[in-house]
Amino acid sequence: MDGSSSMAQKTALIVYAHQSSASFNAAARDASVQELKNQGFKVIVSDLYEMNFRASATQDDIIGDLKKPEHFQYGDETMLAWKEGRLSEDIVAEQRKVEEAELIIFQFPLWWFSVPGIMKGWIDRVLTQGFAFTLQKMYDNGGFKGKKAMLSFTTGATQTMFQPDGLNGDVNVVLWPLQNGVLRFCGFQVLAPQIFWAPAHSPLEVRTAMLEGWRARLKGLLAEEPLTFVPTQMFDLSFKGGFKLWPKVKEDQESEPYGFTTGHHLGKRLPPDNQLKAQATKQK
Ligand SMILES: Cc1cc2nc3c(=O)[nH]c(=O)nc-3n(C[C@H](O)[C@H](O)[C@H](O)COP(=O)(O)OP(=O)(O)OC[C@H]3O[C@@H](n4cnc5c(N)ncnc54)[C@H](O)[C@@H]3O)c2cc1C
Repeated sequence: MDGSSSMAQKTALIVYAHQSSASFNAAARDASVQELKNQGFKVIVSDLYEMNFRASATQDDIIGDLKKPEHFQYGDETMLAWKEGRLSEDIVAEQRKVEEAELIIFQFPLWWFSVPGIMKGWIDRVLTQGFAFTLQKMYDNGGFKGKKAMLSFTTGATQTMFQPDGLNGDVNVVLWPLQNGVLRFCGFQVLAPQIFWAPAHSPLEVRTAMLEGWRARLKGLLAEEPLTFVPTQMFDLSFKGGFKLWPKVKEDQESEPYGFTTGHHLGKRLPPDNQLKAQATKQK
């Protein structure tokens, strides 16, 4: 644990959003910290409420003059500020943590089918263009392709409510924007999410078992296969080609019963649990 690991110590970052240290989310965070430390990780926690992390993306994120003050464009201005080392201190501090981390776990309660606003603010402000992606460096070619990231969250709803025939609809669809649109877009290998279903409506023994399950999973987490997405080379990455699947790829897929992913379904049935589990057979 200690002595031998110091040379190549790995770092994990837990981006955490809950207001209460008595919450189930806090317990899940504590389990992650403990288990990862036991494996020799250096663990950094960004406790967003405690840090009073600012969620809104504004001109205050940029130090010095704006390039185009008459028409403020957050993406352009922050990309330039990142290049020139003029991003605000709180953003730079988080970007350093991301750079250092091999693994990032987002720990949060599901709010409105997504992350709480304070965590969305972290995503908006920390994953700056240039730092986290460019038009050349996205998806498979993303800058963070050597890193792993995952969502770990609690819900108010039960698991059955988030099934395709449940009241809320398919949780795979809910996961797509965060897992594909944020994590995979920046190049991360996306590990299967850890979902704690309805802890507030579960008896103590079920809650305890959920945390034990998480601890057990953490022991082998880094060896897990990431989720499957469509390889970037399967798309014609040009404006002329519309960034669409190559015709040949679509043709080859015609006889398949399922679409590629929850998002790239090609009008077919969704591959089962595409956003919940690594797929056994890899798409080639
Ligand atoms: C604005 C908003 C939007 C929301 N949107 C959605 C939505 O879209 N979909 C949805 O499904 N839900 C939604 N919810 C509900 C929300 O997801 C849940 O309230 C939340 O996930 C519960 O997690 P928690 O950590 O706050 O639970 P808590 O209420 O803190 O904890 C649940 C139980 O676990 C206990 N506990 C704490 N520590 C331990 C421990 N170590 N061992 C065992 N038990 C422990 C607590 O005492 C408590 O009894 C929303 C809620 C809000 C406020």
